[in-house]
Amino acid sequence: MYIQLTDQASVQDVRAELQGLGLWTRPMTGAAGAVIGLDVASHSMAVAQPTILAVPGVADVIDVPSAHPRVDAQWGEPIQVGDRSIGGGAPPVLISGPCSVESPAQIQAAAATAARAGASLLRGGAFKPRTSPYCFDGHGRQALGWLREAADAYGLGVVTEVMSELEVQAVAAHAELLQLGARNMQNYALLRAVGGARKPVLLKRGMSATVEEWLLSAEHLLKHGATGVIFCERGIAGGDPSTRYLLDLAAVALLKHVYGQPVIVDPSLATGRRDLVPAMARAALAAGADGLLVEAHPDARQARSDGPQALDSAALLALGDALGFRPAAPRPKHAPTEVAA
Ligand code: PEP
Ligand code: MN
Repeated sequence: MYIQLTDQASVQDVRAELQGLGLWTRPMTGAAGAVIGLDVASHSMAVAQPTILAVPGVADVIDVPSAHPRVDAQWGEPIQVGDRSIGGGAPPVLISGPCSVESPAQIQAAAATAARAGASLLRGGAFKPRTSPYCFDGHGRQALGWLREAADAYGLGVVTEVMSELEVQAVAAHAELLQLGARNMQNYALLRAVGGARKPVLLKRGMSATVEEWLLSAEHLLKHGATGVIFCERGIAGGDPSTRYLLDLAAVALLKHVYGQPVIVDPSLATGRRDLVPAMARAALAAGADGLLVEAHPDARQARSDGPQALDSAALLALGDALGFRPAAPRPKHAPTEVAA
Protein backbone atom coordinates (compact mmCIF):
# COMPACT_ATOMS: atom_id res chain seq x y z
CA MET A 1 0.00 0.00 0.00
CA TYR A 2 1.18 3.55 -0.78
CA ILE A 3 -0.05 6.62 1.04
CA GLN A 4 0.07 9.91 -0.79
CA LEU A 5 0.58 12.99 1.40
CA THR A 6 -0.95 16.47 1.06
CA ASP A 7 1.44 19.36 0.34
CA GLN A 8 1.04 20.67 3.90
CA ALA A 9 1.43 17.33 5.64
CA SER A 10 3.90 16.95 8.50
CA VAL A 11 5.61 13.69 7.56
CA GLN A 12 6.59 13.07 11.15
CA ASP A 13 3.06 13.56 12.49
CA VAL A 14 1.46 11.40 9.80
CA ARG A 15 3.96 8.61 10.36
CA ALA A 16 3.42 8.75 14.12
CA GLU A 17 -0.34 8.58 13.70
CA LEU A 18 -0.08 5.69 11.23
CA GLN A 19 2.35 3.86 13.49
CA GLY A 20 -0.22 4.19 16.25
CA LEU A 21 -2.72 2.41 13.99
CA GLY A 22 -0.20 -0.40 13.39
CA LEU A 23 1.12 0.70 10.01
CA TRP A 24 4.88 0.64 9.46
CA THR A 25 5.89 3.20 6.85
CA ARG A 26 8.90 4.23 4.80
CA PRO A 27 9.10 7.77 3.38
CA MET A 28 9.28 8.06 -0.41
CA THR A 29 10.78 11.15 -1.95
CA GLY A 30 9.76 12.85 -5.18
CA ALA A 31 12.01 14.26 -7.90
CA ALA A 32 12.59 17.48 -5.89
CA GLY A 33 13.84 15.51 -2.90
CA ALA A 34 10.82 16.19 -0.67
CA VAL A 35 8.82 13.38 0.93
CA ILE A 36 5.63 13.00 -1.08
CA GLY A 37 4.32 9.67 0.16
CA LEU A 38 4.75 6.69 2.42
CA ASP A 39 5.28 3.06 1.52
CA VAL A 40 3.41 0.80 3.96
CA ALA A 41 5.15 -2.46 4.88
CA SER A 42 3.09 -5.50 3.94
CA HIS A 43 3.37 -6.96 7.47
CA SER A 44 1.45 -3.97 8.88
CA MET A 45 -1.82 -4.54 10.70
CA ALA A 46 -5.06 -4.51 8.74
CA VAL A 47 -6.60 -1.01 8.86
CA ALA A 48 -9.65 0.08 6.88
CA GLN A 49 -8.96 2.64 4.14
CA PRO A 50 -11.41 5.29 5.53
CA THR A 51 -9.47 5.23 8.84
CA ILE A 52 -6.23 5.97 6.98
CA LEU A 53 -7.85 8.65 4.83
CA ALA A 54 -9.08 10.36 8.01
CA VAL A 55 -5.49 10.93 9.22
CA PRO A 56 -4.63 14.66 8.74
CA GLY A 57 -2.06 15.00 5.95
CA VAL A 58 -3.15 11.87 4.02
CA ALA A 59 -4.27 12.72 0.48
CA ASP A 60 -4.86 9.24 -0.93
CA VAL A 61 -4.37 5.54 -0.35
CA ILE A 62 -3.16 3.51 -3.32
CA ASP A 63 -3.08 -0.26 -3.42
CA VAL A 64 0.22 -1.54 -4.79
CA PRO A 65 0.24 -5.04 -6.28
CA SER A 66 1.69 -7.63 -3.89
CA ALA A 67 5.22 -8.90 -4.54
CA HIS A 68 4.01 -12.44 -3.83
CA PRO A 69 0.57 -12.93 -5.38
CA ARG A 70 0.88 -16.72 -5.54
CA VAL A 71 1.67 -16.92 -1.85
CA ASP A 72 -1.26 -14.59 -1.13
CA ALA A 73 -3.52 -16.98 -3.07
CA GLN A 74 -2.68 -19.69 -0.53
CA TRP A 75 -4.43 -17.61 2.20
CA GLY A 76 -6.28 -20.00 4.48
CA GLU A 77 -6.01 -22.88 2.01
CA PRO A 78 -4.96 -26.35 3.14
CA ILE A 79 -1.98 -27.80 1.28
CA GLN A 80 -2.47 -31.28 -0.08
CA VAL A 81 0.42 -33.57 0.85
CA GLY A 82 -0.31 -37.01 -0.58
CA ASP A 83 -3.70 -37.85 0.88
CA ARG A 84 -3.26 -35.51 3.86
CA SER A 85 -4.06 -31.83 4.31
CA ILE A 86 -1.78 -29.43 6.16
CA GLY A 87 -2.90 -25.97 7.28
CA GLY A 88 -6.11 -24.19 6.32
CA GLY A 89 -7.81 -25.27 9.53
CA ALA A 90 -6.85 -28.97 9.28
CA PRO A 91 -5.81 -30.49 12.63
CA PRO A 92 -2.09 -30.00 13.37
CA VAL A 93 0.23 -32.70 12.08
CA LEU A 94 3.22 -34.35 13.66
CA ILE A 95 6.20 -35.07 11.42
CA SER A 96 8.97 -37.08 13.02
CA GLY A 97 12.03 -39.16 12.34
CA PRO A 98 15.79 -38.96 12.65
CA CYS A 99 18.01 -36.16 11.41
CA SER A 100 19.63 -38.56 8.93
CA VAL A 101 18.62 -41.92 7.55
CA GLU A 102 21.45 -44.13 8.82
CA SER A 103 20.38 -47.70 8.00
CA PRO A 104 17.25 -49.64 7.05
CA ALA A 105 16.92 -50.90 10.64
CA GLN A 106 17.27 -47.42 12.15
CA ILE A 107 14.66 -45.84 9.90
CA GLN A 108 12.26 -48.77 10.34
CA ALA A 109 12.47 -48.38 14.12
CA ALA A 110 12.03 -44.61 13.83
CA ALA A 111 9.00 -45.07 11.57
CA ALA A 112 7.40 -47.52 13.99
CA THR A 113 7.71 -45.05 16.86
CA ALA A 114 6.64 -42.07 14.76
CA ALA A 115 3.47 -43.92 13.74
CA ARG A 116 2.71 -44.91 17.35
CA ALA A 117 3.23 -41.30 18.44
CA GLY A 118 0.61 -40.15 15.94
CA ALA A 119 2.86 -38.78 13.21
CA SER A 120 1.51 -38.56 9.68
CA LEU A 121 4.83 -38.06 7.91
CA LEU A 122 8.28 -39.56 8.40
CA ARG A 123 11.31 -37.30 8.10
CA GLY A 124 14.94 -38.26 7.58
CA GLY A 125 17.80 -36.82 5.58
CA ALA A 126 19.34 -38.77 2.73
CA PHE A 127 21.33 -35.75 1.54
CA LYS A 128 22.60 -33.79 4.54
CA PRO A 129 24.04 -30.28 4.45
CA ARG A 130 26.93 -30.33 6.96
CA THR A 131 29.01 -27.41 8.12
CA SER A 132 32.15 -29.55 8.15
CA PRO A 133 33.09 -31.57 5.07
CA TYR A 134 34.36 -34.33 7.39
CA CYS A 135 30.94 -35.04 8.94
CA PHE A 136 28.53 -37.75 7.82
CA ASP A 137 26.50 -36.27 4.98
CA GLY A 138 23.92 -38.96 4.37
CA HIS A 139 23.67 -42.20 2.45
CA GLY A 140 22.25 -40.45 -0.60
CA ARG A 141 19.96 -42.19 -3.06
CA GLN A 142 19.93 -45.56 -1.35
CA ALA A 143 18.62 -43.88 1.82
CA LEU A 144 15.63 -42.58 -0.14
CA GLY A 145 14.58 -46.17 -0.75
CA TRP A 146 15.01 -47.11 2.93
CA LEU A 147 12.98 -44.07 3.95
CA ARG A 148 10.14 -44.87 1.54
CA GLU A 149 9.99 -48.51 2.60
CA ALA A 150 9.90 -47.63 6.27
CA ALA A 151 7.18 -45.03 5.74
CA ASP A 152 5.09 -47.43 3.66
CA ALA A 153 5.41 -50.14 6.29
CA TYR A 154 3.69 -47.84 8.80
CA GLY A 155 1.29 -45.89 6.58
CA LEU A 156 3.29 -42.65 6.74
CA GLY A 157 4.10 -40.02 4.13
CA VAL A 158 7.70 -38.93 3.50
CA VAL A 159 9.41 -35.56 3.74
CA THR A 160 13.11 -35.28 2.96
CA GLU A 161 15.55 -32.59 1.93
CA VAL A 162 16.61 -31.81 -1.63
CA MET A 163 20.08 -30.31 -1.65
CA SER A 164 20.83 -30.06 -5.32
CA GLU A 165 19.14 -29.73 -8.69
CA LEU A 166 20.67 -33.10 -9.61
CA GLU A 167 18.60 -34.87 -6.97
CA VAL A 168 15.20 -33.27 -7.44
CA GLN A 169 13.76 -36.11 -9.51
CA ALA A 170 15.04 -38.85 -7.23
CA VAL A 171 13.70 -37.14 -4.12
CA ALA A 172 10.39 -36.32 -5.79
CA ALA A 173 9.99 -39.99 -6.74
CA HIS A 174 10.26 -41.00 -3.07
CA ALA A 175 8.64 -38.16 -1.09
CA GLU A 176 5.19 -36.58 -0.84
CA LEU A 177 6.73 -33.36 0.49
CA LEU A 178 10.08 -31.91 -0.64
CA GLN A 179 12.11 -30.16 2.05
CA LEU A 180 14.13 -27.11 1.07
CA GLY A 181 16.73 -26.53 3.78
CA ALA A 182 17.55 -23.30 5.60
CA ARG A 183 20.93 -23.04 3.87
CA ASN A 184 19.24 -23.17 0.47
CA MET A 185 16.27 -20.90 1.09
CA GLN A 186 17.73 -18.35 -1.31
CA ASN A 187 19.32 -20.75 -3.79
CA TYR A 188 17.13 -19.56 -6.63
CA ALA A 189 18.29 -22.15 -9.16
CA LEU A 190 17.34 -24.88 -6.70
CA LEU A 191 13.99 -23.20 -5.95
CA ARG A 192 13.27 -23.25 -9.67
CA ALA A 193 14.20 -26.92 -10.02
CA VAL A 194 12.24 -27.97 -6.92
CA GLY A 195 9.21 -25.99 -8.08
CA GLY A 196 9.46 -27.85 -11.40
CA ALA A 197 8.82 -31.16 -9.61
CA ARG A 198 5.20 -29.95 -9.18
CA LYS A 199 4.89 -31.16 -5.63
CA PRO A 200 4.28 -29.46 -2.28
CA VAL A 201 7.39 -28.04 -0.60
CA LEU A 202 8.38 -27.56 3.03
CA LEU A 203 10.39 -24.34 2.92
CA LYS A 204 12.69 -23.90 5.88
CA ARG A 205 13.53 -20.35 6.88
CA GLY A 206 17.12 -19.24 6.32
CA MET A 207 18.85 -18.51 9.61
CA SER A 208 19.21 -14.83 8.77
CA ALA A 209 16.21 -14.44 6.48
CA THR A 210 13.49 -11.86 6.99
CA VAL A 211 9.87 -12.92 6.72
CA GLU A 212 9.61 -10.95 3.47
CA GLU A 213 12.57 -12.84 1.96
CA TRP A 214 11.00 -16.10 3.09
CA LEU A 215 7.69 -15.19 1.42
CA LEU A 216 9.53 -14.28 -1.79
CA SER A 217 11.36 -17.62 -1.83
CA ALA A 218 7.98 -19.31 -1.55
CA GLU A 219 6.82 -17.19 -4.47
CA HIS A 220 9.74 -18.53 -6.54
CA LEU A 221 8.67 -22.11 -5.77
CA LEU A 222 5.03 -21.47 -6.63
CA LYS A 223 5.90 -19.56 -9.79
CA HIS A 224 7.95 -22.51 -11.00
CA GLY A 225 5.22 -25.06 -10.36
CA ALA A 226 5.19 -26.15 -6.70
CA THR A 227 1.66 -27.23 -5.81
CA GLY A 228 1.87 -25.58 -2.40
CA VAL A 229 4.42 -24.20 0.04
CA ILE A 230 4.41 -24.92 3.76
CA PHE A 231 6.66 -22.60 5.75
CA CYS A 232 8.91 -24.14 8.40
CA GLU A 233 10.25 -21.95 11.22
CA ARG A 234 13.43 -23.60 12.53
CA GLY A 235 15.02 -20.76 14.46
CA ILE A 236 17.11 -17.83 13.33
CA ALA A 237 20.61 -16.74 14.29
CA GLY A 238 20.30 -15.42 17.81
CA GLY A 239 23.74 -14.65 19.19
CA ASP A 240 23.22 -16.48 22.48
CA PRO A 241 24.86 -19.91 22.32
CA SER A 242 22.63 -21.27 25.13
CA THR A 243 20.28 -22.51 22.43
CA ARG A 244 21.28 -23.47 18.90
CA TYR A 245 19.06 -20.85 17.25
CA LEU A 246 16.35 -18.44 18.36
CA LEU A 247 12.87 -19.84 17.75
CA ASP A 248 10.88 -16.98 16.23
CA LEU A 249 7.33 -17.79 17.25
CA ALA A 250 6.22 -14.23 16.55
CA ALA A 251 7.01 -14.92 12.89
CA VAL A 252 4.79 -18.01 13.10
CA ALA A 253 1.88 -15.94 14.42
CA LEU A 254 2.60 -13.27 11.79
CA LEU A 255 2.60 -15.78 8.94
CA LYS A 256 -0.66 -17.26 10.20
CA HIS A 257 -2.56 -14.12 11.08
CA VAL A 258 -1.30 -11.55 8.57
CA TYR A 259 -0.45 -13.81 5.62
CA GLY A 260 -2.77 -16.80 6.26
CA GLN A 261 -0.02 -19.31 5.46
CA PRO A 262 0.51 -22.93 6.55
CA VAL A 263 3.37 -23.12 9.06
CA ILE A 264 5.26 -25.98 10.66
CA VAL A 265 7.67 -25.45 13.55
CA ASP A 266 10.90 -27.40 14.06
CA PRO A 267 11.62 -27.15 17.80
CA SER A 268 14.51 -29.63 17.52
CA LEU A 269 16.76 -27.59 15.28
CA ALA A 270 15.69 -24.34 16.93
CA THR A 271 16.85 -25.37 20.39
CA GLY A 272 19.49 -28.01 19.61
CA ARG A 273 18.63 -29.83 22.84
CA ARG A 274 16.00 -32.45 23.52
CA ASP A 275 15.02 -31.18 26.97
CA LEU A 276 13.59 -27.96 25.50
CA VAL A 277 11.70 -29.62 22.64
CA PRO A 278 8.41 -30.41 24.45
CA ALA A 279 7.98 -26.87 25.81
CA MET A 280 8.74 -25.28 22.44
CA ALA A 281 6.45 -27.75 20.68
CA ARG A 282 3.59 -26.65 22.93
CA ALA A 283 4.44 -23.00 22.41
CA ALA A 284 4.49 -23.50 18.65
CA LEU A 285 0.97 -24.91 18.61
CA ALA A 286 -0.18 -22.09 20.88
CA ALA A 287 1.27 -19.61 18.36
CA GLY A 288 -0.90 -21.17 15.66
CA ALA A 289 1.45 -23.67 13.99
CA ASP A 290 -0.19 -26.26 11.76
CA GLY A 291 2.26 -28.92 12.81
CA LEU A 292 5.61 -29.88 14.25
CA LEU A 293 8.78 -31.33 12.76
CA VAL A 294 10.44 -33.23 15.59
CA GLU A 295 13.69 -35.15 15.36
CA ALA A 296 13.66 -38.51 17.10
CA HIS A 297 16.12 -41.40 17.09
CA PRO A 298 15.77 -44.97 18.37
CA ASP A 299 19.24 -44.62 19.95
CA ALA A 300 20.24 -40.97 20.07
CA ARG A 301 23.67 -41.70 21.58
CA GLN A 302 24.58 -43.46 18.34
CA ALA A 303 23.09 -40.79 16.06
CA ARG A 304 25.44 -39.74 13.27
CA SER A 305 24.02 -36.21 13.24
CA ASP A 306 22.14 -33.98 15.70
CA GLY A 307 21.97 -36.57 18.53
CA PRO A 308 21.59 -33.99 21.35
CA GLN A 309 18.33 -32.67 19.93
CA ALA A 310 16.76 -36.05 19.12
CA LEU A 311 13.99 -37.35 21.34
CA ASP A 312 14.22 -40.99 22.34
CA SER A 313 11.23 -43.21 21.60
CA ALA A 314 9.64 -42.82 25.05
CA ALA A 315 9.90 -39.03 24.86
CA LEU A 316 8.35 -38.94 21.39
CA LEU A 317 5.45 -41.11 22.52
CA ALA A 318 4.96 -38.89 25.57
CA LEU A 319 4.97 -35.80 23.34
CA GLY A 320 2.46 -37.39 20.97
CA ASP A 321 0.22 -38.14 23.96
CA ALA A 322 0.57 -34.78 25.63
CA LEU A 323 -0.20 -32.83 22.45
CA GLY A 324 -3.06 -35.04 21.33
CA PHE A 325 -1.42 -36.56 18.24
CA ARG A 326 -1.37 -40.09 19.52
CA PRO A 327 -4.38 -42.13 18.51
CA ALA A 328 -6.51 -43.07 21.50
CA ALA A 329 -5.59 -46.49 22.89
CA PRO A 330 -8.13 -49.12 21.85
CA ARG A 331 -10.79 -49.64 24.51
CA PRO A 332 -10.35 -52.85 26.49
CA LYS A 333 -12.72 -55.56 25.23
CA HIS A 334 -14.64 -55.71 28.47
CA ALA A 335 -14.63 -52.02 29.33
CA PRO A 336 -17.25 -51.21 31.93
CA THR A 337 -20.24 -49.56 30.28
CA GLU A 338 -22.32 -46.86 31.88
CA VAL A 339 -25.66 -48.12 33.09
CA ALA A 340 -28.55 -45.70 32.96
CA ALA A 341 -30.02 -45.11 36.39
C1 PEP B 1 17.15 -30.77 8.98
O1 PEP B 1 15.92 -30.64 9.07
O2 PEP B 1 17.73 -31.82 9.24
C2 PEP B 1 17.95 -29.60 8.59
C3 PEP B 1 19.19 -29.72 8.12
O3 PEP B 1 17.31 -28.45 8.75
P1 PEP B 1 17.70 -26.91 8.42
O4 PEP B 1 17.75 -26.81 6.94
O5 PEP B 1 16.57 -26.16 9.05
O6 PEP B 1 19.03 -26.62 9.08
MN1 MN C 1 19.08 -32.33 11.89
